[in-house]
Formats: sequence, C-alpha cells, structure tokens
Amino acid sequence: MITGNSFENEYYRCRKCRTFHSRKELEKMREERNYPDGRWKCLDCGSDFWVYAKFKGKFPNMIFERKLVKDLEKGNKVVFTIDDFKVHEVMDEPKNTNGKVYISFSNYRSTTENAEDWVNCFVGEWDGDTSRFK
Ligand SMILES: [Zn+2]
Repeated sequence: MITGNSFENEYYRCRKCRTFHSRKELEKMREERNYPDGRWKCLDCGSDFWVYAKFKGKFPNMIFERKLVKDLEKGNKVVFTIDDFKVHEVMDEPKNTNGKVYISFSNYRSTTENAEDWVNCFVGEWDGDTSRFK
C-alpha cells in the first residue's frame, strides 16, 4: 500500500550527468541497453534518479527518490501514495527479518513491507516546468 507506486507523468533526472528523461525515453533506453525494469538509477553512472512527478488536481508536483524498502533509514520521509499523499517520517531504524521489514512511521502506525519493494521518498516540490531541464 505504500510501495510500488509510479505515475503516468514522471521524469527522471540524474543530477550528476545532468540528464532528464521522460518515462517513455527511460523505457526505451532500458530496452536498448537490456536493463531490467524497476530500478531507479541512472543507466550511465548508477546514481539514484530524482523522480519529478506531475499531478493533476489538488496534489503538489513532487520530487521523489525511490528507495528499496530494505535501504530505508531513520529520518527518511516516505510519501504514502494512497489517499492524500501525506509524508510520514521513518521513526526508528527499520528492522529487516527474513525479507520483511518492520517500519514505524510518524503520525501513523507501523507496517511490515517486503524488503525488495520500493517506496517514494520525499525530496521536494517543483513547479512542473520541464523546459528548464532540456
Ligand atoms: Zn548519471
């Protein structure tokens, strides 16, 4: 429920290589280079992409970093992409047991998630203007 959500209108930026890809472009690159899907790292340098998502309606345009559940740390701000896109902070170091990770969140209860799933971590908001990256 907090894991595995990606969005139709999202873009991927590598801050090191200064590249900016649309979803279609990234899919094509992954195909061409025979990369598996589901990783959110730059295909050139391996840095984590920043994911720039554009939403219609009442939600702000958000910048995410996608982390595997097993890589979450205390203090990470996880975006719950159900309901209201609220940000909940990881309160303690998550406990990983046999592929299941126990996480306690601020202003929420604790949940158990699969270690290999990924979540959206909040980086910031943006104005939705993709032209600056071209
Ligand atoms: Zn890169």
